[in-house]
Amino acid sequence: QKKKENTRIEDLQTAYENIDSNQIEKFEDFPLSKETFSGLKKHNYVVPTEIQKESIGFCLRGRDVLGAAKTGSGKTLAFLIPLLEVLYRNKWTRLDGVGAIIISPVRELAMQTFNVLNKIGEFHDFSVGLVTGGKDLKFEKKRMNQCNIIICTPNRLLHHLDENPLCDCSNLQILIIDEADRCLETCFEETMNRIIQHLPSERQTLLFSATQTKSVTALARLSLKDPQYVSVHENS
Ligand code: ADP
Ligand code: MG
Repeated sequence: QKKKENTRIEDLQTAYENIDSNQIEKFEDFPLSKETFSGLKKHNYVVPTEIQKESIGFCLRGRDVLGAAKTGSGKTLAFLIPLLEVLYRNKWTRLDGVGAIIISPVRELAMQTFNVLNKIGEFHDFSVGLVTGGKDLKFEKKRMNQCNIIICTPNRLLHHLDENPLCDCSNLQILIIDEADRCLETCFEETMNRIIQHLPSERQTLLFSATQTKSVTALARLSLKDPQYVSVHENS
């Protein structure tokens, strides 16, 4: 059984090299785990949007990606699918701690992302925590070490990183910043700087936003490695 799973993971990784975004018509054309396929299918996600077609291949291959596409273009799945796959490939279990963090500028957006992840991730066995400050801090604190995926707002995440000994992110595989242009704005600058200092630099980083964030200093402090820019414009 274990061997079978190893083979499956190796096959996926080989297939990543051959992903050609021009050839992708359905999600099925991407090499993904059967758990992710089941989640997509159950919730009627069949045809990827343009940003999903263009960016998912790079994300699966482990590249740092800066994705830009207008609001409503499907950026959430563009990062949630690679997130599920990276934890799947690493055979992440509930005992492995925090493997992925998604930072959203506001609580409402974090909640939306949480809902979408619970849908398409339902056939995986990862625990997901919403860390946004709307809930009891004590409850959040105790649960932090049981979460594999944390969806959070910048201030609340930093609070835990600074003060909660149970918040251990040293195994982090992937950091995702949604609405990156807003998260990297001046009001969050200091918070984001401090968050990054808490996180291991050996990780994949994905930034998604409506506009391309090329601010050099903002990117430098995220220590992106040879980032791939993916922009999808309205009339493409
Ligand atoms: P963005 O973050 O770019 O503003 P969202 O990820 O919130 O966009 O997606 C906008 C809407 O499109 C959501 O209602 C979502 O369920 C839907 N959607 C996203 N991807 C697909 C898809 N491949 N097929 C059908 N609907 C999709
Ligand atoms: Mg969005």
